[in-house]
Amino acid sequence: MALTLEALNAAPPDEAVRLLDGIYEHSPWVAERALAARPFRSLAHLKYAMAQAVATAPPELPLALIRAHPELAGKAMEAKTLTAESTQEQGKAGLTNCTPEELERIRALNKAYGEKFGFPFILAVRGPRGDGLSKGEIIATFERRLHHHPDFERAEALRNIHRIAEIRLDDRFGVVPALGNDVWDWQEKLAAHTDPGYAELGQLTVTYLTDAHRACAAQIAGWMREAGFDSVGIDAVGNVVGRYEAATPGAKTLLTGSHYDTVRNGGKYDGRLGIFVPMACVRELKRQNRRLPFAFEVVGFAEEEGQRYKATFLGSGALIGHFDRNWLDQQDADGVTLRDAMKHAGLNIDDIPKIQRDPAKYLGFVEVHIEQGPVLNELDIPLGIVTSINGGVRFVGEVFGMASHAGTTPMDRRRDAACAVAELILFAEQRAAKDGDSVATVGMLQVPNGSINVVPGNCRFSLDIRAPNDPQRDAVVADVLAELKAICERRGVRYTLEEAMRAAAAPSAPAWQARWEKAVDALGVPLFRMPSGAGHDAMKLHEVMPQAMLFVRGINSGISHNPLESSTNDDMQLAVEAFQLLLDNLAKEDAP
Ligand SMILES: [Zn+2]
Repeated sequence: MALTLEALNAAPPDEAVRLLDGIYEHSPWVAERALAARPFRSLAHLKYAMAQAVATAPPELPLALIRAHPELAGKAMEAKTLTAESTQEQGKAGLTNCTPEELERIRALNKAYGEKFGFPFILAVRGPRGDGLSKGEIIATFERRLHHHPDFERAEALRNIHRIAEIRLDDRFGVVPALGNDVWDWQEKLAAHTDPGYAELGQLTVTYLTDAHRACAAQIAGWMREAGFDSVGIDAVGNVVGRYEAATPGAKTLLTGSHYDTVRNGGKYDGRLGIFVPMACVRELKRQNRRLPFAFEVVGFAEEEGQRYKATFLGSGALIGHFDRNWLDQQDADGVTLRDAMKHAGLNIDDIPKIQRDPAKYLGFVEVHIEQGPVLNELDIPLGIVTSINGGVRFVGEVFGMASHAGTTPMDRRRDAACAVAELILFAEQRAAKDGDSVATVGMLQVPNGSINVVPGNCRFSLDIRAPNDPQRDAVVADVLAELKAICERRGVRYTLEEAMRAAAAPSAPAWQARWEKAVDALGVPLFRMPSGAGHDAMKLHEVMPQAMLFVRGINSGISHNPLESSTNDDMQLAVEAFQLLLDNLAKEDAP
């Protein structure tokens, strides 16, 4: 019989530890420590308490926990001395059924890994969907993680242990994250559509109005119809728009959505998660034959990433009346103009102004998005409350010094352009760090025509500065630019600097942020508030209506714009549940 939270909360301490036996391999101390957090409000709360029990333990305990795990396809498996849980997991991943070549490869990796890190390689082999990674995925992950820094890898091992525990807890409590599985599967199926040239490489690339892009739109629209939306259509810029009408006609509308285009060789969840999570909510409402006192509109935005044309946020921008007709003459890499691409896709350019929304008819905009960063993953927290989308400024600059012989120019007679930029980079790093939540990056750095034996005569660089509000961002910019001036004066070099981009911060509307907080808190997971370092469609809607975002933890350190981008079925389940709670609570508010 499945374990229940009530039974666990009510059990005497020894009995409670026994009920959690085997969740953390050969380490009952994890359960003992976690039980101090009883009563558990939810399974997610229990999972977090167990992860916290490890995070706050003296360092020798987590290391012992890692070492308590068997090697993958190792001696314990051969000798059949694995725990029942481990046997089932390794079996599900096909590891009990390796070819001699695979076994040899895994043994070599086990040996190299053990020598480097001093503990066994730990991977949640049932994977982010819970149904088992392939042997190929396991070996590729093993090879990749062998290159990690030891500190990082130790933390990654613990995160995998927490994921193993999560799946074991789901099994023990008889819980299937069915909604999370559906959201996962929709994203997986949508990723079958990818632009030509990338399909062959097994990479996901969906840029604006390509065949793959239009196939995605058709697929999303089809699923929205199946889910039970009242109306589904593709608008004049290619956005997929589904509406689930209110209980009473004329009620206001809650707007949500995210983008379905991707960067080149991107991830499957960036953007798409924010379409499918609310789609799952509508499907459940329809199944219950339930109407809300407000209409619910889910938009799959056609263009956010600005990959094929420099028209970033074209999809969400069109909803607030931002469409620059000059974009129409832009050509893609093959010389196809945006105008022709839109005509080819059957879009009517003259209809674009008509899709501008009247903010008076909307309650606000909410967006669910994968975090695209490492923070939630490191903290073992599944959902994050976004406080603001950072405002940013970008510059491209160049410092001009004097090229001279690297052997004959004494150190006190140099005008080294690269050294000046190096000083600037370190200053920007320290200045941004001082704020705690500002960021500054020099991502491009180049000594044009540099030589190994020449003091750099000039040095080109980029500068990207972001912060949760504009005054904070502008203060960092002012300090960094003042320092650039001072460095150049001191070194006797000159510089040019050009502002390439400026975007205002989009702080979350307090009432909407509070609605996400209430929903997340009701799930029993800790509230964690954080700014969004990346730009999102919500930035556009922010200009005309209140908005707030919810982040979902990514795994693999939250890597994004990369095929390794991922999240789990359990976290997606929590995202759907949080959204359902937000809708339910909003329905209970007086005249929202
Ligand atoms: Zn995105």
